[in-house]
Amino acid sequence: MVKLNRRIAALKPSATLAADARAKELRAAGIDVIALDAGEPDFDTPERIKDAARKALAEGRTKYTAVSGIPELKDAIRVKLKRDNQLDYAAGEIIVSAGCKQAEANVINALFDEGDEVIIPTPAWVSFSAMVELAGAKAKFVTCSEGNGFLLTPEALKSAIGPNTRGIMLNSPSNPTGTVYHAGHLAELAKILLEADLWVMSDDVYEHISYDGPVPHLFHLEPRLRGKGIVFNSLSKTYAMTGWRIGFAAGPAEVIGAASRLQSQNSGNPNSIAQIAAIEALTGPQDEVKRMAEEFRARREIVVERLRKIPGFKLPNVPSGAFYAFPNVSELFGLSYNGRKLTDGDSVAAFLLDEAKVSTVGGNDFDAPNHIRLSYATSRDKLTAAFDRIEQAVRKLRN
Ligand code: GLU
Repeated sequence: MVKLNRRIAALKPSATLAADARAKELRAAGIDVIALDAGEPDFDTPERIKDAARKALAEGRTKYTAVSGIPELKDAIRVKLKRDNQLDYAAGEIIVSAGCKQAEANVINALFDEGDEVIIPTPAWVSFSAMVELAGAKAKFVTCSEGNGFLLTPEALKSAIGPNTRGIMLNSPSNPTGTVYHAGHLAELAKILLEADLWVMSDDVYEHISYDGPVPHLFHLEPRLRGKGIVFNSLSKTYAMTGWRIGFAAGPAEVIGAASRLQSQNSGNPNSIAQIAAIEALTGPQDEVKRMAEEFRARREIVVERLRKIPGFKLPNVPSGAFYAFPNVSELFGLSYNGRKLTDGDSVAAFLLDEAKVSTVGGNDFDAPNHIRLSYATSRDKLTAAFDRIEQAVRKLRN
């Protein structure tokens, strides 16, 4: 057996991408799987953005760019941060990466070390803890209860902060729960965060998919957090650009400089054509962003209604942002199919794939083993068909 790097040897593949890959494999083998797994809008990238890419290709913009992104894109990101979040950043405080994931990994590696703890309120997106642990730091999970809408309470935050805590990852709207932090919640958390002097990371990738009005920004509400605050965002969900791989981070120049040095050694600039397309995405007309969010809202209604009728699926909280439903499926535990017992969210996801040919993501790697995640970034017809299949499959479960 090859002796691998200690941290890589222990690394699991991303559960969201693994589910997506499995569904794609089955489809390639001719099996009709409905994918409600990875968070990927089914819409095509808007034409104006594709036109900008075609033009960039025709103009031969095919060479290396500045490692941390071309100046015109950083200007567009500055405009976006001002327009959408009322935040002012200078070009030297911004890094563009191959997706938000790379921006996050860069910053986490730049900031945290062995012995450091980073608070991750859970349920949380599967890759936050992996990134923290790859940097050698410790992910400190703080469970947010379903009964409280999966919100991190000030009390839970306070008691999680210890002498080695150096950072926290916040994500609103949340992947996987759809929870949105409103101004009142954020103000309470801000007081504690200021006092604790932590690095506060705000993953905003679902900001435009919010069903109860605009999502307030923590650093706008409490500008003093900006000194140790990092904003992360992506074009993937907002502009249906998952495959283009453009995301960014904004924060203090020293941290962004360190993240850029890391990127210069590990990969280099993000794709040049995608960067130019991103300028058009951020600065052109924003109508399609609203249109897509409205469609997600309509789909959410279908998902909530159908899920709540399936025996064993509980959805006490209606998701108020992002495009995920995160039902509690623990009532199914103990039931069996084909001699296999359901024991946790992952086993329920496996059952749904086997018996309903619907691909979801089990909750285990979100630190929520009583749940499964369903992405509703897919068409209404497919959603309806998926729930028909799930209902039928659940009927086959036996004691
Ligand atoms: N963030 C999306 C998800 O949670 C895309 C896949 C990934 O990178 O995790 O499904």
